[in-house]
Amino acid sequence: MFCYQCEQTRNSQGCISVGVCGKNSEISDIQDKIVSALINLANSAERSLKHTDLIIKGLFMTVTNVNFDRDFLQNFFEELKNAYYSEEKFDIKKLWNENDDVRSLKSIILFGLKGMAAFAYNARCFNFKNEVVDSFFYEALQAISQKDNLNELGALVLKTGEVNLKAIELLDKANTETYGHPVPTKVTTNIEAGPFIVVSGHNLQDLYLLLEQSVDSGVNVYTHGEMLPCHAYPKIKKFEHLKGNFGTAWQNQQKEFENIPAPILFTTNCMMPVLDSYADRTFTTSLVSFPNIKYINQNKDFKPLINKAIELGGYKAFQHRTGLNGGFVLSVGYGHNTLLTFMDRIVELLNCGKLKYIFIVGGCDGAKSGRNYYTEFVRKIPKDALILTYACGKYRFNDIFTEKIYDIPRFMDMGQCNDTYSAIKFIRELSKRLNCSISSLPVSFVISWYEQKSVSILLTLLYLGIQNIRLGPGMPAFVSPNVMKMLINKFKIKPISTPDVDLKEILNV
Ligand code: SF4
Ligand code: SF4
Repeated sequence: MFCYQCEQTRNSQGCISVGVCGKNSEISDIQDKIVSALINLANSAERSLKHTDLIIKGLFMTVTNVNFDRDFLQNFFEELKNAYYSEEKFDIKKLWNENDDVRSLKSIILFGLKGMAAFAYNARCFNFKNEVVDSFFYEALQAISQKDNLNELGALVLKTGEVNLKAIELLDKANTETYGHPVPTKVTTNIEAGPFIVVSGHNLQDLYLLLEQSVDSGVNVYTHGEMLPCHAYPKIKKFEHLKGNFGTAWQNQQKEFENIPAPILFTTNCMMPVLDSYADRTFTTSLVSFPNIKYINQNKDFKPLINKAIELGGYKAFQHRTGLNGGFVLSVGYGHNTLLTFMDRIVELLNCGKLKYIFIVGGCDGAKSGRNYYTEFVRKIPKDALILTYACGKYRFNDIFTEKIYDIPRFMDMGQCNDTYSAIKFIRELSKRLNCSISSLPVSFVISWYEQKSVSILLTLLYLGIQNIRLGPGMPAFVSPNVMKMLINKFKIKPISTPDVDLKEILNV
């Protein structure tokens, strides 16, 4: 096997015998077969709704920490072959032996596409589709097998970011038109006595359907990981049995799920290999699957999950639990609709110097020790600067801040990884109001990356011309030295160093 698509790849080079994520060579092999078949399909088959759905599903199920189930993947591969089978085969494994820079640019495009597929898939659950997004999957997959020109591939890297902006806009539309615009909401980390279910992943619809089906069942529901922002959506927060948030980011799940008297539902990544200690109370749905773990199919009948919660009974007494820094109230709900209501005041405070800077510290969490950089970094941000965040990296610091800068919360959580869209809307509006380009705003992105959604988000930020992004904890293994040089020259992208050095440089002090 060879896989280097995520940040935790072995020795920062590539997983070659078994994945650090737990993916074995058999799973890696089927995933490669799926990606190769999707490229063949994009090259030769007619474009159709059915084919586009297969491309989106297939790319998403090969994203890190989504699917570890040989049978599930093999069945999907058979479905692909039935839909379209071609003798002239492109094999993705060839890509790993191409010229360093060609391989690098094609890998960036492929991994960006995988991230975009995750967003497109979640939007499709609500029947939201976008012609530009759909057709780009074909264009980019074709290019991976057909193009070798570095300039053309470089342009396609940025186009992946451009089209991904449409994908996250589409998902924002799907989520907000269905459940309303997020509103500022406080979420507890405490767990009440009695039966409960923990829901992980990013799919709002799965959470909503479960809440609907569990009304009056006596079972409470807690979000986990990237589900946390769902508490802020009006049509989701109305459920009284949606009580709070359980645990922290994905990499802690094996420890956090071990002893709880409750079932867990995974709706998307990031799922780690399920330990025996909680295997009999773990459920998956949609494209997430793990061998011998109960799977809830597209009928979305969550009764077995609800019954499991009743059988396990939950805690006998109230549990006081906290975030990583001892706080037990998390603030969510600062999507673009809310953020823009602060715009006048933010501009006023910036103009009179009472607000000095805005940091957007967002992205994925992960297991590497260097990630405590982000906790230290936000702790050292001066008191007269705002902090905006998104995605699951925030669990390192989202229980710390309660203060305000005048009448504006100093720390605002915009939501999931796709809600970078809110950050983009915010900075675009700010640049209009301050009459300057996005790159000259008093705003910096400090990003933690992990899997392929963060690749697509990064490409979108680059497409928008955002410069001086701090990226960590390490640089992607799939970026060749020449491509890295180009990113540094063109976008002034920088690896994180130490919080003190980076803050000093950003604030020019
Ligand atoms: S997804 Fe990441 S950890 Fe898993 S095999 Fe690939 S590079 Fe390794
Ligand atoms: S933000 Fe990234 S790392 Fe975190 S759960 Fe989502 S996909 Fe996984």
